[in-house]
Amino acid sequence: SAYVPAGDRYDAMLYNRCGKSGIRLPAVSLGLWHNFGSIDNFENGRQIVRRAFDKGITHFDLANNYGPLPGSAEENFGAILQKDFTGYLRDELVISTKAGYLMWPGPYGEWGSRKYVLSSLDQSLRRMKLDYVDIFYSHRPDPDTPIEETMGALDTAVRQGKALYVGLSNYTAEQTTAALAVLKSLGTPCLIHQPKYSMFERWVEGGLLDVLEANGVGCIPFSPLAQGLLTDRYLKGIPEGSRASKPSGFLKAEQITADKLDKIQRLNAIAQKRGQSLAQMALAWLLKDKRITSVLIGASSVEQLDNNLGALDRVQFDATELQEIESILK
Ligand code: NDP
Repeated sequence: SAYVPAGDRYDAMLYNRCGKSGIRLPAVSLGLWHNFGSIDNFENGRQIVRRAFDKGITHFDLANNYGPLPGSAEENFGAILQKDFTGYLRDELVISTKAGYLMWPGPYGEWGSRKYVLSSLDQSLRRMKLDYVDIFYSHRPDPDTPIEETMGALDTAVRQGKALYVGLSNYTAEQTTAALAVLKSLGTPCLIHQPKYSMFERWVEGGLLDVLEANGVGCIPFSPLAQGLLTDRYLKGIPEGSRASKPSGFLKAEQITADKLDKIQRLNAIAQKRGQSLAQMALAWLLKDKRITSVLIGASSVEQLDNNLGALDRVQFDATELQEIESILK
């Protein structure tokens, strides 16, 4: 049936300025790494995207290789856009994609050469049937390519009109500092950094967040729920259909250790005392830091998405709660 976006879609969402840029992003953004590939149910993904937009999620995150098969998440997202987001709705969306990981065979199919990065963006635009993306990322640092070359390719993408902004993902604090300087000198300042960050993965606290703040760059943590660990998904074992149960899932059963489960149980108890789900508390815990622009969640159902959006109802923590959480995480 024809999709008519909810008229009240901008009422409940919080929009945070991305670093010192002019653009604001929703406090919760949706990523299409899992659940939107050619192996997944298209209509389920379509319902998730529609629901997200109805709730004020304007930002959708992709990458060349998302699927499986690689490229199929972009194809499916492009099909959803063609079916449901017609006319000027494109102007209400912030769509990102990335290049960096293996996408096609041969020496030009991954990493950070100008050759790969710019060809990959052209492929992504064709798959999504778009003229431009809003944010184009270098998906990972390339130790063998000069940073000037990779950043130069991002700058070119903007000058070609194929991207409005550029971003970095998985760059360390030092690599980020170097990349930001090159981008600035080219006249294409970095909009945003996308690092892995959750209660279970805190490397960004060791310097990256300071670099981003000092340079006015936004931050959008990926896997904020640790791929589902920081939810009630695995409290009673590994359910069928969950990411850890699927061969294509990047979460492996071995990662769900007894130590992790113990921490998850204890965090869950705190969440319950706060009147939240563990997923909601895990997202709120990231959003309490003003340097965090948006949390980049995944969802395999509309119900999960709705649950995660409930995080915005309670983002404050008192000192005792924060101490209790620290003592569990240490
Ligand atoms: P999350 O940590 O949010 O994990 C999402 C998964 O957790 C869901 O697929 C679902 O798993 C489970 N889940 C989500 N909400 C709930 C809930 N309320 N209750 C129970 N279970 C829930 O993020 P992802 O790991 O999916 O990553 C999010 C996005 O970040 C990606 O789509 C991608 O855009 C980006 N990303 C970027 C990377 C990079 O290198 N730049 C790397 C990885 C991700 P289940 O399937 O079991 O239902």
